Amino acid sequence: MRAERGSERGTATEADRMAAAEHGVPPDPSGTAAGAPAYARARTLEEALAVLAGGPAATGDPRPVVLAGGTDLLTLWRRHRRQPSRLLDIGRLDALQGMGPDAEGGWRIGALVTLSELARAGALPPAYQALAEAAAASATPALRNRATLGGNLEQRVRCWHYRSGLPCRFAGDDHCSCAAPEAAAPFQAIFGHGPGEPGEGCGAVHPSDPAVALTALGAEVELARWEAGRITRRRVPVDAYFTGRPTAGAPGLTVRRPDELVTAVVLPPLAEPSASTYRKVMDRRVWQFALVSLAAWVRWAPGPVVGAVRLALGGVALKPWRLEAVEAWLRGRALDGATAWEAGERAVEGARPLAGSGFKVELVRSLVADTLQDLADRAATT
Ligand SMILES: Cc1cc2nc3c(=O)[nH]c(=O)nc-3n(C[C@H](O)[C@H](O)[C@H](O)COP(=O)(O)OP(=O)(O)OC[C@H]3O[C@@H](n4cnc5c(N)ncnc54)[C@H](O)[C@@H]3O)c2cc1C
Repeated sequence: MRAERGSERGTATEADRMAAAEHGVPPDPSGTAAGAPAYARARTLEEALAVLAGGPAATGDPRPVVLAGGTDLLTLWRRHRRQPSRLLDIGRLDALQGMGPDAEGGWRIGALVTLSELARAGALPPAYQALAEAAAASATPALRNRATLGGNLEQRVRCWHYRSGLPCRFAGDDHCSCAAPEAAAPFQAIFGHGPGEPGEGCGAVHPSDPAVALTALGAEVELARWEAGRITRRRVPVDAYFTGRPTAGAPGLTVRRPDELVTAVVLPPLAEPSASTYRKVMDRRVWQFALVSLAAWVRWAPGPVVGAVRLALGGVALKPWRLEAVEAWLRGRALDGATAWEAGERAVEGARPLAGSGFKVELVRSLVADTLQDLADRAATT
């Protein structure tokens, strides 16, 4: 383990500049807003997991915070929202690199694979096209070169209230200010924040594009930890990975334990003929989080009749929002214009817009209808 104090990797410069513009506040010129944390670089997965397993009970030291590409973590550090006293850099772990077919006929993607690698033409088999499109639609080229898939799934919400230091349960406060009527903002949720729901009282949405695509593709997140002197792994379906619950620290937005690392994402085999796609609506074409997005995967029965389908929305809830009722309705139906239109109508049933997010209802309705119609048109011409 290489340890350095106050090592400045200088990796978050663009992220910090962009985040500053996004929030209308100048970046911290010193780059050391909260004092420099102790820095250590893990050389092996075993070493990294053993350090995370140590934890406060074993050593008296706080558990280190994992650093991958740094595009989210260092931005939050510079904004005083996260102030780790120890960083554990996993960015060079060979065990978390690379992607390719797995023994079960699916596709395994290491947690350190960057969004640029995922977006590269031909890097993923055609059935997983939604993931390539989601990665390509994320952030900017420079950020995608550093941003890892594992970090993308573990990033914090982009809620302006959280990032600006306003009351927020993600920061340990007893309530969120972002769902209040006077907080009207276009980022707000339309699903999952009502009474009795996990996101009750929080208006934030999950920021990840890849997470939405992975939900529609039926992926699993592989987690590893150090237990009884060896690596223990478990897999969690992406659907269950995101809690949709605003909680400070870990477990927070995901079910990952504090001593676990995301080691890979595993895509299931997707039998032909199937197709997937990702559509993202932004208020400008680059460097924006989704106002709303949709990932769709369809396996065709002859027709084109929908044999199997998974639909997930982004930008509408604190987790990728699965449209299971719409999926059930679509199964066995011929997908034409009328069916696609009706699916759009059904997609917004139960929507509960907040003061600033009413426009998302119409966006979702049109996005679902248009995307399904396009998938049907593509199937008809191939
Ligand atoms: C200006 C800007 C625009 C952006 N736009 C988009 C967008 O449009 N769409 C989108 O999806 N994302 C967007 N992002 C988010 C970006 O994709 C993420 O910041 C990035 O993917 C995080 O990856 P990282 O490797 O840099 O993670 P880091 O910043 O290093 O880490 C992020 C978090 O994940 C944890 N972590 C990292 N790796 C692991 C692991 N293997 N196991 C367990 N925990 C881990 C860290 O401890 C930290 O809590 C944007 C970011 C910025 C700054």
